Amino acid sequence: MKFFAYMDGKAQGLAVETPDGFRGLNAKADRFPGRLEKLIAQGGDALAEAGKVLAKGREIDPAQVKFLPPIRKAGKFIAVGLNYRAHTAEGPYEQPDYPTLFARFASSFVGHGQPILRPKASVQLDYEGELVAVIGKRAKDVSVDQALDHVIGYSIFNDASVRDYQRRTPQWTPGKNFDGTGGFGPWFVSADALPPGCKGLTLETRLNGQSVQKAPIDDMVFPVADLVSIISAVMTLEPGDVIITGTPSGVGHARKPQLWMKDGDTCEVEISGIGILSNPIKDA
Ligand code: MG
Repeated sequence: MKFFAYMDGKAQGLAVETPDGFRGLNAKADRFPGRLEKLIAQGGDALAEAGKVLAKGREIDPAQVKFLPPIRKAGKFIAVGLNYRAHTAEGPYEQPDYPTLFARFASSFVGHGQPILRPKASVQLDYEGELVAVIGKRAKDVSVDQALDHVIGYSIFNDASVRDYQRRTPQWTPGKNFDGTGGFGPWFVSADALPPGCKGLTLETRLNGQSVQKAPIDDMVFPVADLVSIISAVMTLEPGDVIITGTPSGVGHARKPQLWMKDGDTCEVEISGIGILSNPIKDA
């Protein structure tokens, strides 16, 4: 099932994909099942039940509403760096044997169709298309074999990065957290609709229609199951927590000449089977 969170005028709502297009309910409607974060916390059955209720709601035309990031409140948004060998090499970095983890905060998120903002502080705004995995069941010290049982669904992220700020510190956090730089969406797809760990899917990023990144999800150094297992050895992953799994090669800063996103551009990230996250670029 595909769900997306929206604003219709001043009303928030949640929509689900049906054979006849999207249907949903505004949050003030009597039968509104709750925000996606709440449904995810209640588990897969609650999500399925909510899907049935929303499918009896009114038609929602995706072109007529504003998409919100699928998850805006979570205990943790953990991003992964250097998770595709060719991207690590273009850094250039040495490929680490432990995932490079950093934090991304919801204040940096924008929904599908909303502008990614090039900040006043820098012109070095770069795209990074990524797969998102969403935790559905508490995970602590889980094995790789068990890890995917704790993932309830997937989405798409554009981990747009302000490169000069990213490299001001070895921890990357400032360059990854400018307001309005993290495209997230368009929707949340439940894990039962996709192959385990999204194996076999392909990720492509397009800037103004031109392909700039393309790689199989299977190229990840640490696939989704490994990430969940490794992170859960450190911290308890809770329902709704988000893992942003890293980007393949082709980023703008490694190109000659370098390629930065600018006002008027459009950046799309497509993952086969999930959808297309599209964001215009605007000056802040
Ligand atoms: Mg990234």
